[in-house]
Amino acid sequence: MKSYFFIVNPIAGGGKAKSLIYRIEDNFRQSGAEFQLYQTKGPQDAIEAAAGAAKEGYDIVVAAGGDGTVNEVLNGLVGSNAALAAIHGGKGNDFATAVEMPKNIDDACRALLKSEIRAIDLGKVLDRYFINSVGVGFDAAVALRVNRGVKPFKGVSAYIYAFFESLFSYETVEMDIDMGRELIKTRPLLVAVGIGQAYGGGMRIVPDAIQDDGLFDVCIFNSMSRLALVYHFPKVFSGKLKHLEQANMFRTKEIKLNLSEVRPLHMEGEIFFSDHMHFTLEPKGMKVLFGK
Ligand SMILES: [Mg+2]
Repeated sequence: MKSYFFIVNPIAGGGKAKSLIYRIEDNFRQSGAEFQLYQTKGPQDAIEAAAGAAKEGYDIVVAAGGDGTVNEVLNGLVGSNAALAAIHGGKGNDFATAVEMPKNIDDACRALLKSEIRAIDLGKVLDRYFINSVGVGFDAAVALRVNRGVKPFKGVSAYIYAFFESLFSYETVEMDIDMGRELIKTRPLLVAVGIGQAYGGGMRIVPDAIQDDGLFDVCIFNSMSRLALVYHFPKVFSGKLKHLEQANMFRTKEIKLNLSEVRPLHMEGEIFFSDHMHFTLEPKGMKVLFGK
């Protein structure tokens, strides 16, 4: 039987992850599996906790939080023998969704105990690993506004508010995009790079992405009028945004973005800034636990 280390972000999802502790303890005590729970104390703490758990020899490290927690746990685990798992515990749970983890906590615990482990591709940019998706441009501007807080709005309404605010303030930036073929010079609205299909809580920006094909799915989305963007934006949830002429879809193992000025990049709930972003992929570089 496998051993489990849970990293719980107590503030994720407005306390959602913390509220799951009782159910996790109940399920795992009954199972007889070896497990340990740890609550994070602040930003970046999950990286160290995950690295420590891997060093202690835990087989599976479970991120109990949102995508930001998953990203920290991932960065603590890379290079170890431990597998990454995630339960729906935050506002954005795109990775948990990508690995088909059940939303119900009791079902999720059963899936964890079944421990269906497979290797999927591992991405890296700005010296940080990612396992699902990254965006640069308008989407990152929205994420940045949400992260900084748009009181009194919370959750989905915070995203909607930030979306409209960004809609009127966002200025595109010139980019040279190098995927090892003809250099693309453009001023896109956004560039998304995905191993999984979705970010931002279910926005399927690269809906055909396959997690273990050794390639990133890339969407270079060109600018459109504000009105058109408001009209077409909801299509991102069904994956239909890719059918618009503004959406240019690619598959590549490597991509370099050179921006004319420093801009934010959003990676699984975390924000970084740079004007040069070099994405590399390690095929099947990370062991992850699937819900099915
Ligand atoms: Mg892929």
